[in-house]
Amino acid sequence: MSPKLRLTCPECGQANQFPRDKAGAAPKCGICGHALNDGKVAPVDFRTLEKMAKSDGLPLLVDFWAPWCGPCRAMAPEFEKAAKALAPHVRLAKIDTQSHPDATVRYNIRGIPAFILFAEGREVARLAGARPAADVVRFVQEKLTLIA
Ligand SMILES: [Zn+2]
Repeated sequence: MSPKLRLTCPECGQANQFPRDKAGAAPKCGICGHALNDGKVAPVDFRTLEKMAKSDGLPLLVDFWAPWCGPCRAMAPEFEKAAKALAPHVRLAKIDTQSHPDATVRYNIRGIPAFILFAEGREVARLAGARPAADVVRFVQEKLTLIA
C-alpha cells in the first residue's frame, strides 16, 4: 500500500488525496478535473495558496509577482522552465500580488519577484529577485536536501 499524498487543486481549492506513487501519473482534481501536478506554473488566489502551503504533501514554490513588474514578467518563462525541471517532485505556483494584496501582507513580501519554498506545512526558504531557471532549480534542490 502506497501512503496517501494530499494535493490541493490550484484551480478550485479542493483537497485531493491519492496514492503517493501516483504523484507523477498526471493526477487530476476529483471536483473540477484540473491537472494537479503537470509541471506547469499554476496561478492561484490567496485562499488556495494558504491551503497549498499548509497541507500539501509535495513541496511548493510560489512566485509572488505583479503585472506592472518588468523583472517579474521577464522571469515568468524561466519560472515555467523550473516547473518543468522540478516536476513531479515539487509544484510551482504564482500569485498576482496586485489582485491579492492579502498575500503580500500575510507573507511579508517587501519586493517582487519573490519566491517562497514551502514543505511539510511550513515555509522553508526564500529567494528574491529575477534569475535564470537553473538558479531556481538549484535553490529548491539545496533547500529540500537540508530538510530531508
Ligand atoms: Zn479542482
